Amino acid sequence: MLIRLWGVRGSIPTPPTTAQYREKLRHVLKLASGKTFDSDSEADSFVEGLDDSLRCLLGGNTTCIEVVAGETRLIFDMGSGIRELGNYLLQSHDPLNEMHVFISHTHWDHIQGWPFFKPGYMPKYKINFYSPHGNFEQRLSEQQEFKFFPVSLNFMASQKEFKSFPPETSIEINGIKISNIELHHPGKSYGYRVEHEGKVFVFATDSEYNNFTTQKFQKFINFFQDADTLIFDAQYSFDQEMQRVDWGHSSAFVGIDLATQASVKKLILFHHEPDNDDFQIMSLFDLSLRYMNDNYPGSTLQVYLAREGMTFNL
Ligand SMILES: [Zn+2]
Ligand SMILES: [Zn+2]
Repeated sequence: MLIRLWGVRGSIPTPPTTAQYREKLRHVLKLASGKTFDSDSEADSFVEGLDDSLRCLLGGNTTCIEVVAGETRLIFDMGSGIRELGNYLLQSHDPLNEMHVFISHTHWDHIQGWPFFKPGYMPKYKINFYSPHGNFEQRLSEQQEFKFFPVSLNFMASQKEFKSFPPETSIEINGIKISNIELHHPGKSYGYRVEHEGKVFVFATDSEYNNFTTQKFQKFINFFQDADTLIFDAQYSFDQEMQRVDWGHSSAFVGIDLATQASVKKLILFHHEPDNDDFQIMSLFDLSLRYMNDNYPGSTLQVYLAREGMTFNL
């Protein structure tokens, strides 16, 4: 199973600012002080040796995750990251013309990329949509009412099918089992568990885990159980989470607690707060690693910070 992250930012697309770029540049220039670079490859290898916080951008696109299992392509959410995925599919002449799109919920940051997804306009593509929100087709077409966007959903020429996927049920597509669970978020969000050839991927974004009974926590732990990879809403610092009760998001600390109890192998901290820049998010990440080492010494859980373009092979 191949997993590719096309959009990792929460709430609203967040391009890096010039001030943030200059801050990175300043750090890099200090590190390069006294060095000479006589060729592109020397410069490249210096850049490759830099810390992630300087070498990379976390990325400003909103939620979109691609999963390829066998010969089947699944897509989770259609935030602005799906535009990049569409361009990639066209440029790489990818032979899979059918895709299965699962929607957590219809807040803007999870559907706003769809009208910019070029395969959506091409008749050769068959796109199947699944959403436990029963009226998903209507919601999607409302996003493209003429007063908001010039092209209607019906005008997009791909073959679109809106499939039934009731809350808290499972379906099977080409030997892949997909289950959904209701998450705690304004207007309800849904998480997905994907099982294929002994590997498990869980996508659980836009969810809060406050004030739950032990039984309710256990329900989530069961859903995450033994996941090879869990994508988890860690939008807030722990302090922010305490201040923003009922905003529907969570933190890395909660993710580490739940992932540990569920024996997850890889935890990916996701849906980054748009008001936090890369340096702030990376320092929160360092804090999370410290939290894990202090509270779960010897744990084999691997924790990653979601970054646009990241891939995982299960
Ligand atoms: Zn969101
Ligand atoms: Zn939301």
